[in-house]
Amino acid sequence: MSATGSAPGRRRVAQVLLVLLVLGTTAGILRVVVQNNILLGRMTTDVATAQGRAFNLSNGEREALLLLQRLTELESGGDPAAAIERHGLLSRQLEVSGTGFAPDSAQYREIAAIRTALAAFPWDQLGDPGRRAALTRQAVLLVTGLEVRIKTLYSQQESFFYDATLRSLQAKKANERALAGLVALVAVLGVCWIAVLKRRNRSDLARAYDALVAETEERRSAEHALRTSEQRFRALVQRASDLTAVSAADGTLSYVSPAVEDITGFPSAALTGRVLFDHLHPDDRDRTAALLAGVAGTPSGVDTIEARVVTKDGRVRTLEVVCRNLCADPAVGGIVWNARDVTDRRALQDQLSHQAYHDSLTGLPNRALFMRRLTEALGTAAAAGGTAATILVDLDGFKNVNDTLGHPAGDELLQRAAERLRGCILDGDTVARLGGDEFAIAIPGGTPEHAAAISRRVLTALRRPIRADGQEVRIGASIGVAALAGHRTAEDLVADADIAMYEAKRGGKGRFLVFAPEMRERTSRRAQLEQQLSRAVMLGQIEVQYQPIVDLHTRTVTAVEALARWHRDGEVIGPEVFVPIAEEAGLIGEIGTEVLLRAAETVQRWRRTEPGSAGLGVSVNVSGWQVLAGDCSLQLADALSATGLPPEALTLEITESILLDDSESLSAELDRIRALGVRLAMDDFGAGHSSLSSLLRYRVDTLKIDRMFLDQALRSRTSLLQAVAELGRTLGLRVVAEGVETAEQLALVRAAGCDAVQGFLVSRPLPEEDARLFLEWAASSGEISALLSRSEAPA
Ligand code: C2E
Ligand code: CA
Ligand code: CA
Repeated sequence: MSATGSAPGRRRVAQVLLVLLVLGTTAGILRVVVQNNILLGRMTTDVATAQGRAFNLSNGEREALLLLQRLTELESGGDPAAAIERHGLLSRQLEVSGTGFAPDSAQYREIAAIRTALAAFPWDQLGDPGRRAALTRQAVLLVTGLEVRIKTLYSQQESFFYDATLRSLQAKKANERALAGLVALVAVLGVCWIAVLKRRNRSDLARAYDALVAETEERRSAEHALRTSEQRFRALVQRASDLTAVSAADGTLSYVSPAVEDITGFPSAALTGRVLFDHLHPDDRDRTAALLAGVAGTPSGVDTIEARVVTKDGRVRTLEVVCRNLCADPAVGGIVWNARDVTDRRALQDQLSHQAYHDSLTGLPNRALFMRRLTEALGTAAAAGGTAATILVDLDGFKNVNDTLGHPAGDELLQRAAERLRGCILDGDTVARLGGDEFAIAIPGGTPEHAAAISRRVLTALRRPIRADGQEVRIGASIGVAALAGHRTAEDLVADADIAMYEAKRGGKGRFLVFAPEMRERTSRRAQLEQQLSRAVMLGQIEVQYQPIVDLHTRTVTAVEALARWHRDGEVIGPEVFVPIAEEAGLIGEIGTEVLLRAAETVQRWRRTEPGSAGLGVSVNVSGWQVLAGDCSLQLADALSATGLPPEALTLEITESILLDDSESLSAELDRIRALGVRLAMDDFGAGHSSLSSLLRYRVDTLKIDRMFLDQALRSRTSLLQAVAELGRTLGLRVVAEGVETAEQLALVRAAGCDAVQGFLVSRPLPEEDARLFLEWAASSGEISALLSRSEAPA
């Protein structure tokens, strides 16, 4: 009883245990399947999210590049509104990019920081022409930095995308393995069940069958779920605009995603089974093969390359390619190529870099590129013991063309000049526009003689009339040449050529000079003087001295000439030295105004307070630059009204050299000066290029005969002095003899019939207080009259 009763009992226990074991194992496998399935679902979402983020960031980067382009255009005269609008688009794109990240993520914060940096920049002030150049430079720096940061974010997303892809593939493979396990288990169970069933009653059989059906059903639904998510993943890869391909280690393609058709025009089916190199640009095949060999030879190796493909219609597109060795990954078992079409971006970058290195007006290389080429030339010369030279070309009279014919004509002239310069150089030389009307040539291997020959060619080429704005314009050029001496940088060489060029310009223009070391010393001395003079003008260290002018008819001091002096460290520097420096440094206007105001104020004071000086006049020297600047008459009117000096008491002394400038504007300005009632004197008459016609044309009141005629009269006793004085009288001018030092000279002057004298015989130029004392003494002592009487004897 117990034996028969216990045998079915044990069987029952064994059956229950077996069922429990089967159910437990099945549940375990199913759990793995479901977990992997969830994981796969999450991966798919991750891939989609990462792709979305990468897409937005890629757009952000593109916007940054476009903004950079606008800014670069702005440097060469583009529209600030376009740049401002672009910055708005970039900011909006960044905002969109930000929404793809959780607000507490590092990427979100980085995007927010980039937006803040962008917003902090004063974009609206780009419209201000005064600040534009400086702001544009800052903006380029800022946006370049931001673009790098966006690109970094973008690269992070991209590698995240690849990682997610890889993990998905692994999850999928794990699922397949789990399912295979499940199938095997079910098969084993089936065999077990058949064995068991033999000893089973019908109801057991029915139950077991139901259980099996249920399990199979479950397995089917798990498989279905897996298939769906795999399809989703596949669809993502297939629809992606980036190209994914899998190849063997020899480059034979086993899979190519459909994006290939958008990029190359070939359907993916046409490429599968082919060798990928066949479709590359011939120049890129070897590099890509080398890359493949490297990646294939390294387990899990990764490398990137930029390669060009030839499309079906023969165009060339540039791809940015990431190549990964996933041979060891059973889910892939090959080399995976991920490629993106960067042709447009590359073109934009190339265009930007071309703009960064070329001048937009002439198309010539700009300073940056020039310096690079010259540095290379110097490097080669230093390495090989060779030579290199540079030539700086500065157009003469360009400013004049710009001012009189307008900027469009100036631009045209620069373009023509650039063409001519291009025609003067040899292959391998670089001609560049450094800015304004300054050009430069870099001559690798050039000796000073070689550079001099090119300079001569350039001078000849630029001397020919140039057509600009429908007119024939004549300009010229001043050229400085410097050649390699010892180990020098490009900057040193250009600085030397610059010095030589300025010497050429100063010494008469239209010529070239080869740099010599003593030029540097001269230039630096000059620069130092300019600096000191500028300080002196600021600190009021320009003194005015006064030299009396004596009327030979009334025998009284009727006027004084104001003469400028510069006191520098206890030394007195005369105008012959500092006036040319002041003219070159643009300081002559300030000095002239200062002298004019001081002299008018002083003489007007003497007129009021000094006995016998009520009718005293004052002569002030003006430099040609001042009159030509065109606001001389305004300054005179200001000075007269500020000091109360009557206009007829003021005489402006101009030299013949400015009257040679036979221009309308000069004539008009002199008319305005005369209209004020101010007198004009022709200074140093006879010392320069005497022009009777300009004497008549500009209607001066006084002729000042240069000292030279006194010397001549003393030496030869012929009466040139007499002739000039006669001429003055004939024209109705007052004739003043300058530089009278001796009684003998005074006698000659009187004999010639001059109206007045000025010179050391009467007095040297005197400081203000001494001059006042002199006037006081002259008015009270009658010494002047006595002096003149003494000189009557030899006459
Ligand atoms: P200038 O207008 O011919 O001035 C006369 C110059 O002859 C003065 O030289 C004066 O000191 C000098 N001189 C006067 N009498 C005699 C004499 O008997 N013998 C000799 N040997 N020289 C005499 P200074 O003051 O050195 O001025 C030189 C030139 O500088 C002036 O020649 C004038 O053209 C210019 N200059 C002076 N002051 C100014 C100024 O404020 N503005 C401008 N633009 N030029 C000025
Ligand atoms: Ca004078
Ligand atoms: Ca003079």
